[in-house]
Amino acid sequence: VSRPVADLLIEDATAIATCAGPAPRAGPRQREIGQLHDAVIAAADGRIVYVGPPVALQNAVDLQPAARRIDASGCVVVPGFVDPHTHIVFAGDRRGELQRRLAGATYAQIAAEGGGILSTVAATRTASEDELLAGARARLDEMLACGTTTCEAKSGYGLTTESELKQLRVVRALDRSHPIDIRATFLGAHEVPPEYRARRADYVALVADEMIPCVAADGLADYCDVFCEDGVFTPAEATRILDAGRGAGLTPRIHADELGASGGSFVAAAVNARSADHLVFANEQAAEALAQAGVCAVLLPAASFYLKLGRFAPARMLIEHGVPVALASDVNPGGGFSPSMPFVMTLACFEMGLTLEEALVAATINAAWSLDCADRTGSLEPGKQLDAVLVRGGFDELVRIGAPAIRMVIKRGQVVKSG
Ligand SMILES: [Zn+2]
Repeated sequence: VSRPVADLLIEDATAIATCAGPAPRAGPRQREIGQLHDAVIAAADGRIVYVGPPVALQNAVDLQPAARRIDASGCVVVPGFVDPHTHIVFAGDRRGELQRRLAGATYAQIAAEGGGILSTVAATRTASEDELLAGARARLDEMLACGTTTCEAKSGYGLTTESELKQLRVVRALDRSHPIDIRATFLGAHEVPPEYRARRADYVALVADEMIPCVAADGLADYCDVFCEDGVFTPAEATRILDAGRGAGLTPRIHADELGASGGSFVAAAVNARSADHLVFANEQAAEALAQAGVCAVLLPAASFYLKLGRFAPARMLIEHGVPVALASDVNPGGGFSPSMPFVMTLACFEMGLTLEEALVAATINAAWSLDCADRTGSLEPGKQLDAVLVRGGFDELVRIGAPAIRMVIKRGQVVKSG
């Protein structure tokens, strides 16, 4: 058996959190980060070929004389972050809503004044693909600088067949041209557009019978998502749309129980969704249903924070019920102001009671599993892409928001941020 030839070596790190092992991690295993001391990582062509003690490296791989050597002294190494819930493709500017919210306006009041999702829809419908591409690329650049190396991106600001397809074409173009790998989600059921307000059943039919077949025919999405919430889409409507998506090859995800106990968790379990997202109002029955169906909880504490919801998802209860928990940024124009997974992890620790280890698993291997890419990213182990973040000091530096904790970001063996 010939030994692999390595062209890159990360050495002298204080510690490596490999997050290696089977995914997803639920219950007590949510905190298993596979920490190694006195270990190096070797890679070839962007793929990890060795993780382990430096003394055994020579027996495992041939390190090319010209191999790049990354000195990680004073740093810990963690897997590149995976952000499984974003709305990065949009046009328009809703920063004015931030001022309104800080002055005390609620989400519903802002929407009633013409703000909210529908103002983004109006701007996104008229934007060109190039404009959408430029805006989303800048958002991805910010995410990458914060250590995100894989993400999900949704449509949902077009709400017509053509403008939803336009958003998803932008996602595909970004996946091909940006270092961040992107998984695409069709979210035509993000909101009922104004022209269908008096005939919402027709809009549900449009999503299920026209949009989904078009999205699937062009191979533009991996997932189908629905905003299941009082006043948006009902559990029955969500089920119909997610079943249609499943029939066309799109795996279900769902916005569930964000603003109230909408029943979305039970829809997630019934349609065997890959993830149920938000879950701020999920109860124990919902947690049992999600655990039983093997649905991943994707929690978005930055949404609770910026929307000033006054409460966060019951993450500890979900973990105790055996639901695997992932974390996501929810980058979006109305309330997803932070591109930073370390900020999300910080909120998860300080507002939802997660340990740092649980938050790290949630932001890496579990998030990767929720995007069906845990076979190639989300942990540092041989066979996977070398997607990694070097953090100055210890893991706890990640919660020091504003401190320059991230020294380097590596995507498929390429240094994409350093400083
Ligand atoms: Zn969302």
